[in-house]
Amino acid sequence: MARFPVLLVLLCCSRLWTANIEQRMTRDPERLVGEVGLAVLAFFFLWRVFVRAGQIPASPDPWDKEIEKTLHEPEAVEVCHRCFDPVTPGSWFCKQCGCAVGPYNNLMPYINVFSEGEVFRNGANNKLRQNALIIAGYLLVSLQLCNVFAPIYWILFFRNLKRQKESVEQPETHHG
Ligand SMILES: [Zn+2]
Repeated sequence: MARFPVLLVLLCCSRLWTANIEQRMTRDPERLVGEVGLAVLAFFFLWRVFVRAGQIPASPDPWDKEIEKTLHEPEAVEVCHRCFDPVTPGSWFCKQCGCAVGPYNNLMPYINVFSEGEVFRNGANNKLRQNALIIAGYLLVSLQLCNVFAPIYWILFFRNLKRQKESVEQPETHHG
């Protein structure tokens, strides 16, 4: 059942690809053979990925039944995932730290502007996981949004990364 969407996507791709096949045939037959080869390889690769994904056993719940029950009790309160301050139901942002806590912040027009702002603030001020993908993402997205002002943000961003690195190296001298 889960393979149905995959097949649908593949079908659409092949339909798009065959749409102008005659034109391609006359233009460059060798290139066409190459494209067919790549398409077959891509198909088998995708197929293997989905077969493998189907074989991965479902992981058990991280908590037991007791905690699950506590979470659903009426007096259980929602808290901010950053500062653990109680969050009013239906609110978009934490009143304490400004963290996005609403369910659809990133999808709501207008609200998502503030979510993006939060992401950029995190990049310039807060603790951040540091890997090549995150750094490249911050650089590219800030370039797209800030345009000519992006280098200003990059200075703040790299200063924050350096600060984080230093605080990891000497955790006893940095507090706060
Ligand atoms: Zn908070």
